Amino acid sequence: MTAQNTTDQKSDNHHENDNVLQSTQSVIADALDKLGYSSEVYELLKEPIRMLTVRIPVKMDDGSTKIFTGYRAQHNDAVGPTKGGVRFHPNVSETEVKALSIWMSLKAGIVDLPYGGGKGGIICDPRTMSFRELERLSRGYVRAISQLVGPTKDIPAPDVFTNSQIMAWMMDEYSRIREFDSPGFITGKPLVLGGSHGRETATAKGVTICIREAAAKKGIQLEGARVVVQGFGNAGSFLAKFMHDAGAKVIAISDAYGGLHDPEGLDIDYLLERRDSFGTVTKLFKDTITNQELLELDCDILVPAAIENQITEKNAHQIKAAIVVEAANGPTTLEATRILSERGILLVPDVLASAGGVTVSYFEWVQNNQGYYWTEEEVEEKLEKVMVKSFDTVYTTAMNRKVNMRLAAYMVGVRKMAEASRFRGWI
Ligand code: GLU
Repeated sequence: MTAQNTTDQKSDNHHENDNVLQSTQSVIADALDKLGYSSEVYELLKEPIRMLTVRIPVKMDDGSTKIFTGYRAQHNDAVGPTKGGVRFHPNVSETEVKALSIWMSLKAGIVDLPYGGGKGGIICDPRTMSFRELERLSRGYVRAISQLVGPTKDIPAPDVFTNSQIMAWMMDEYSRIREFDSPGFITGKPLVLGGSHGRETATAKGVTICIREAAAKKGIQLEGARVVVQGFGNAGSFLAKFMHDAGAKVIAISDAYGGLHDPEGLDIDYLLERRDSFGTVTKLFKDTITNQELLELDCDILVPAAIENQITEKNAHQIKAAIVVEAANGPTTLEATRILSERGILLVPDVLASAGGVTVSYFEWVQNNQGYYWTEEEVEEKLEKVMVKSFDTVYTTAMNRKVNMRLAAYMVGVRKMAEASRFRGWI
């Protein structure tokens, strides 16, 4: 093999990801401070306890070999095994994966699951890879991290640009390595391989419940409310559908290439039919707006459901929505959070709003461990209870402690981890 047919890929947005990690660390510091914990607790929680970098050689369809870089971060395992998705994206970086693993710990704390946070990522662009190349990459990643993961250690799941097929390959590879069937190794699997009813729509269902609760607090009727959704992937597309079904007017949606806007409301069922498996749909239309224009549209409810750093100090003053509900991880910077909160906009933070996904992942894992499967109604009823209670806990904390919803969510989210670490004698 020659040097020419081996490609190494590097992330190009280290700077932004540094901000994501630093912002998270500063909110954790504030939350621990408000709760009266010592600086030792912060030292423990500011970074993952384990971080693995792997290099994955993949035979491409043209016969060349590409070396992909992947990561798995385990933030804190005091409460239980770590849990969180695997992202396939060109902008994945070590710092981003670290921040994402911390957010998973917070989500698990907020919805009260017996997990710590974990996260994985591979620097790649699955939109340019074939089905078989993706299979080889997925299996290669599992072989590379197999020592560190497992049903009682660290349980992966889908995230940006990964889906139930990728979970199926990963589960199969892990089961082959261990030489026994291990459905509880990973969640977000197809139903026939031990997946759970309601997992695919879980993140969007959780966001929908948060929107309903937030709208009630603000006295906004969902019927007829104007909703803007950024991102048409797993979270964004189902969310647009649920909002549409609830009688709201979805006036704009977008994907990585741009947005569609119709003040009278878009035909969501048609767009769902035409989207590809990466949530791309706007390429079919001539009249598009940019993602930045989309965020600043006149609307009642804005849902960023794509990627990090979308609402910043540059556009926070132009946001017109009364409620911003974060379906994506990290879409609003810290400075923008402050601006929105000063402007009286109710922001429901990612670690609460998007926790429906990991909640139903937990249900999937419980069903796998029991070998006994629940109906869709059972899953939805349980998810509804968890999300309503979690929203209420965070909202009440925000009101009582006179802090914004993000800080309140962090306060709720870090507490269990800090307590479990203390009981274990780590701090
Ligand atoms: N990737 C999703 C998240 O960021 C789900 C993780 C899981 O189900 O474990 O919350």
